[in-house]
Amino acid sequence: MKKINESVLKAEILTTGVQFSSDALNFCRSNLAKGQNDVYNRPIDAGEFLPQELFISSSDGYTTCTSCVSPIVGRTPVHIGVEGGRLVAKWKNFNSNDYGLNIWPVSEPKYYAKFTKAGRPVKRMISACGYDEMNIWPWHDCAISRACKFCGINGVNKRYGSDNIDPVYSRSKKMTDNNVLEMLNEIRESSRIAESDEIYKEHLHLIIISGNLPNDKLDYQADLYSKIAINIPDYIKNRAHEGIVAVTAPSSRNGLMSMKQSGISIIVQNLEVWDPDVFSLVCPGKSDIGRDFYIDAQVEAEKIFGFGKSWCNFILGIEPISSLLDGCLELSIAGITPGANIYHIDHGSAGKWSPPLPEEAIEFFNELSSLYKKYSMAPFYCQKALRTSLSNEAFHGRLV
Ligand code: SF4
Repeated sequence: MKKINESVLKAEILTTGVQFSSDALNFCRSNLAKGQNDVYNRPIDAGEFLPQELFISSSDGYTTCTSCVSPIVGRTPVHIGVEGGRLVAKWKNFNSNDYGLNIWPVSEPKYYAKFTKAGRPVKRMISACGYDEMNIWPWHDCAISRACKFCGINGVNKRYGSDNIDPVYSRSKKMTDNNVLEMLNEIRESSRIAESDEIYKEHLHLIIISGNLPNDKLDYQADLYSKIAINIPDYIKNRAHEGIVAVTAPSSRNGLMSMKQSGISIIVQNLEVWDPDVFSLVCPGKSDIGRDFYIDAQVEAEKIFGFGKSWCNFILGIEPISSLLDGCLELSIAGITPGANIYHIDHGSAGKWSPPLPEEAIEFFNELSSLYKKYSMAPFYCQKALRTSLSNEAFHGRLV
């Protein structure tokens, strides 16, 4: 049996879900926990308030961060309660206190309460997934021809989103050079405000991310991302742990080149699913763009951005693990860094898969870690940022 530590508990939470007692929710509220940022992911049962993430640390000081994902039907979720004035996790026959695990909610960044000069919440442009990601969101919805079935971005945006707060940019709004300029200025201002937050003291993972523009506008999206990258103040770019990471797949080599020339260091073109048949079912819009297109674009991006700087993320839990590992191997051989998040059920998504069992997830991430080591790669970001993956923890030997 695996030694119980922070990463094993994270594996349990990500594969069975988590449920809080009312005491635990009150504890999180009174400790100023960060709630849901309602961009992209929102657990289906988040209710009025659910902490977005928890920190878990072991007595040797290793600390990780996990998403508070929805309970999985048919599995018993990890129960979070309060004992002796601190959070305690109970699962199967285990109690986190018996293993010296310390659990506490990730706090809301101070910049969430701040506004730009134009009166928009800074949080509209920038928010944090995991502890220390600085996610720059120029818009909060996706216009891909047919939505990926695991993704709830448009459902979350419609029901809970902040796009009703006079968006500077929205795919549904007619764009002019003036409102692009206004968007760039607001992002620049917001990034200055957010950068000083204490959450970015150790690491600042700087990521430009959004849903897609329509399939035939992806080079325009690359152009907007390039403009955003150029407009971020140099002192922030220089602090960024990986440089600027941009999550989008342009339509052409020119789009890739303009992103590279704008100072973007890493490009993320997510295939999500490796198996071709499953891919076309689960990602019909990406399939309209073309599976071969995504793979060729990653190979091209590796030539332009460099070894290991073209990233491709997958969802663990949608296709057989063996198929996903085949894909990770093929990409690693080509110098493209693969990664994976554990599938979670979000508000607004169309699919209802089950994530792997905890031990299957651990086995997958240990295999992925072996690939990283064999091909001289490293997992994305860090374990405090990557809240629905165990790739850093496996790489650090926490899951043996
Ligand atoms: S491209 Fe797919 S995964 Fe990305 S935001 Fe759109 S629907 Fe979601």
